[in-house]
Amino acid sequence: MTALDDVLADLEASPTPYHAVARAADVLGRSGFREVDRRARLPTGPGRHLVVEGGALVAWVQAEPLPAGFVVVAAHTDSPGLRVKSHPDLGAAGAQQVGVEVYGGPLLNSWLDRDLGLAGRVAVRTGGRVELRLVRDDAPVLRVPQLAIHLDREVATTGLRLDPQLHLTPMWGLGAPRPGLLAEHVARLLDVAPEAVLAWDLMAFDTQPPALVGRDRDLIASARIDDQLSVFSGAHALGAVAGATHPRTPVLALYDHEEVGSESATGAAGALLGQVLERISLAGARDREGHLAALASSVVVSADGAHATHPNHPDRHDPAHRIALNAGVVVKRNAKQRYATDAISEGWLRAVAADAGLPLQTYVHRNDLPCGSTVGPMTAAALAVPTVDVGAPQLAMHSIRETAGARDVEHLVRLLSACWTWG
Ligand code: ZN
Repeated sequence: MTALDDVLADLEASPTPYHAVARAADVLGRSGFREVDRRARLPTGPGRHLVVEGGALVAWVQAEPLPAGFVVVAAHTDSPGLRVKSHPDLGAAGAQQVGVEVYGGPLLNSWLDRDLGLAGRVAVRTGGRVELRLVRDDAPVLRVPQLAIHLDREVATTGLRLDPQLHLTPMWGLGAPRPGLLAEHVARLLDVAPEAVLAWDLMAFDTQPPALVGRDRDLIASARIDDQLSVFSGAHALGAVAGATHPRTPVLALYDHEEVGSESATGAAGALLGQVLERISLAGARDREGHLAALASSVVVSADGAHATHPNHPDRHDPAHRIALNAGVVVKRNAKQRYATDAISEGWLRAVAADAGLPLQTYVHRNDLPCGSTVGPMTAAALAVPTVDVGAPQLAMHSIRETAGARDVEHLVRLLSACWTWG
């Protein structure tokens, strides 16, 4: 299996952040990483460890003695989409429907006329305990049919206008709506009684598997390229160098909730990474003064999708910063600090890439368009650590099916591995 084959299989295995974290733990498990309980003392002595919290994961290699500083690669597990509401059993015009909330900023049009599955995690009562179970229904149970063009003549001239409350409710059956229908379906999938289903984080996903497309099959079409392509490139990259010599402690931080602002217990604006880093230091017999000194000689590599130059819309891109698919990982700069990259972090990354023989591209957003952001600036702010924002180039970011370059997977995996071994 090549890195590309691996990552395509990982994308298919991960319809939700919870599935992505379970898959990443699996990938890392093949290289000897073992999950440790965040509620207990972290293990001392050499080892390969990871902690999981909801849709977030932090993995690291603990050495003895600890090297000075950390190299943290960060990415996010969540993607924009439609998530099931608490009272989901709706209906209209003889159709049974599932009420959904919009999560993040999806290209809503791309969710229409798709074969949508249902996946997530469910809190299930078993006797005196409440346990979380992953669930995944690969059957195309949900569908949001588009309005026929004969009933929406303006769509051709003024474009598609979708009201997120009114126009995105998937249908999933015929007949009168009935409270409890969705809970019963989920209970059946989990083989529990409907009353055992206490709560859920459920979402729709595209059942179409990832594919290699284009005449030379050198493009990837898939859901969740933003940002699971970085998540799994990071996991494979860390697995590949887990046994190497590390000038600084290698850490992989996979966050949830980037698409909704990162302010959560498992998001980049939360305390998770900072706490785990401090506990790595304490487990390595480094005191708080030593830990803060170690942070001062650390670097963060924030890996998230980058915009490739769109062949049909080249005018939307800065003419001096064209980005091509399959031409290498992109370094993202923004003077307003929507990306955290500065001369310190970029200089370091360019040295790493040059020594690994890897190409880099440079992205700068147009001045007349507002720039998106990512986990880099938040991680930089929380840790006071130089941070470089990078990513594999892609098209159609936030579509249900995004496009990236197949060779850039290898570029990203090799670059991230080099970040953990350079110096
Ligand atoms: Zn992203």
